Amino acid sequence: MIEFRNVVVVYPNGFKALKGINLHISEGEFVAIIGPSGAGKSTLIRTINGLVRITEGDLIVEGKHVQKLKDNELRLLRRKIGMIFQSFNLVKRMSVLRNVLVGRLGYVSTLKSLFNLFPKEDIEFALSNLEKVGIREKAYVRADQLSGGQQQRVAIARALTQQPDIMLADEPVASLDPPTAKVVMDYLKKFNEELKITTLVNLHDVELARAYARRIIGIRAGEIVFDGKPEELTRDVLIRIYGKWQES
Ligand code: ADP
Repeated sequence: MIEFRNVVVVYPNGFKALKGINLHISEGEFVAIIGPSGAGKSTLIRTINGLVRITEGDLIVEGKHVQKLKDNELRLLRRKIGMIFQSFNLVKRMSVLRNVLVGRLGYVSTLKSLFNLFPKEDIEFALSNLEKVGIREKAYVRADQLSGGQQQRVAIARALTQQPDIMLADEPVASLDPPTAKVVMDYLKKFNEELKITTLVNLHDVELARAYARRIIGIRAGEIVFDGKPEELTRDVLIRIYGKWQES
């Protein structure tokens, strides 16, 4: 469902962030991407929804060649791809519910959304997704009144409201304390399993990657240097990915 064929990304300043990526991700997988800071993890997942455009190669997502899509076609593809970020990316001054309804924007007309004219079913659906992440009672609270962990759960509810086939998570727990990080990772895993959402998570925490993913991809300097199961992630492999490795 996601296929990279010799994908290269060169940023406008000439920096080659991805150097010929070949990768196949099947429907329903839960994949963790690890690697040192600056390795290209974020660039890699952002190519999937076209936030970063590829320079060379072929990238096929749900049968579409992403690099060939026109704006409106890209919009349709993005509708099916949820994304969550380290910094949550909520609109702080809006209510939690309104933030979650942003997930329906790809489905209602701009004019209707401007006037808050979301269909009743959309509002019910948004509320049910808040219920799924355990914070329905916060629906009418301003987003910035919530803790970091709660805000990330709102971001997950917003992504679920898109009814996504794919979930991209770019360092989703990097700014959360360990117990809160676990709660967020548990939700991502649960929705991967129950709703069959193909999930790619960038993580800088190797232990979290081991705990949650059955497939781990290691990136170093724009290249895939490991693609395997958690149990294959030996000390030698970690040195290959990180250059050096200190046991904690
Ligand atoms: P990671 O997510 O693994 O930390 P990134 O994908 O964010 O890595 O970045 C990979 C490399 O590309 C880094 O060296 C970063 O500085 C560079 N980079 C990222 N975005 C841009 C950009 N817009 N322009 C130029 N270089 C960039």
